[in-house]
Amino acid sequence: MTVPGLKLVIQKEPPEYKDIFQYLIKNYEDPGKGTEMEKFWVNDLEEGQYPRLEGPVSEEKVHFGSPEEAARTIEEFAIAAGADMIGFTEVTDEIIFKGATVNGKYAISIGFQMNIEAISKAPGPPTGIEALRAYWRLGSIILKVSQFIRSMGYQAQGHQVRTFIKDPPTVLNSLAAVNAGLGEVGRLGLLITPRFGPRVRLGTITTELELPDNGERPFGVDEFCSHCTICADECVGEAIPMEKSLERGHMKYTIDPYKCLTEFAKYDGCGVCISVCPFNRPENEMEWFLEGVRKMVKGYP
Ligand code: SF4
Ligand code: SF4
Repeated sequence: MTVPGLKLVIQKEPPEYKDIFQYLIKNYEDPGKGTEMEKFWVNDLEEGQYPRLEGPVSEEKVHFGSPEEAARTIEEFAIAAGADMIGFTEVTDEIIFKGATVNGKYAISIGFQMNIEAISKAPGPPTGIEALRAYWRLGSIILKVSQFIRSMGYQAQGHQVRTFIKDPPTVLNSLAAVNAGLGEVGRLGLLITPRFGPRVRLGTITTELELPDNGERPFGVDEFCSHCTICADECVGEAIPMEKSLERGHMKYTIDPYKCLTEFAKYDGCGVCISVCPFNRPENEMEWFLEGVRKMVKGYP
């Protein structure tokens, strides 16, 4: 993502993919632009939210009858706090960035939908602003839910996107979301969900509170993407591949982050791939759309 008011100065020779976050941090400079609200969001993410992703745990423990009961309690609280999607899984090496450590054996994946009208204006500042707004709202939800868990006597650690602050990232939020049953990663490199398509931003909470594992819930995205190349054809940075490649032991579509971020910075926001994806449609059209896909695509679940 880009942050309105921050300017990306592209190096001639980008480093290896693993250094993407260092690359971003080194190349952003703040020319002091952006609206007051955007500046507030950036400042609150960095100064207000990130330092509170962990905190003190109550000495009094609430005991649940089962992991499912604990999950229902957390889901109810998270939805009331503003989450649009929530799922549960276990912490595995697969969802942790190499070299990072997280607290807790269980993971809660939380999704927050982006505004469809803002996304339809891609590429341009409305999409950059919307991404920032969504991450700020998502951060406030993650803080509330993790504090709620700690107030019940269990350690909980929030994990938000960290592409523009100096702390290294910890959890691969999209993979955690896949394992928690929220959707599938499509050709455009983002999670595609059955409710909002690819129009969601993701965060994760890890905790010691025992929770169930929803498991993957594929709903035909991989099959659909094998017949569709709209996002790759329309990508303004030619960053989306036609073929899958081997990544962390899995064959997957891997977007070129340098090409993508260059365009994102150039336009002060992108998301053309999200806006043109056939799965990007209003929530009340999704079931109708999925019904049509089920009839058209052989083997569609
Ligand atoms: S992948 Fe392409 S279309 Fe999508 S945000 Fe990046 S540059 Fe824009
Ligand atoms: S535009 Fe087509 S190929 Fe790209 S993610 Fe959406 S469905 Fe898949």
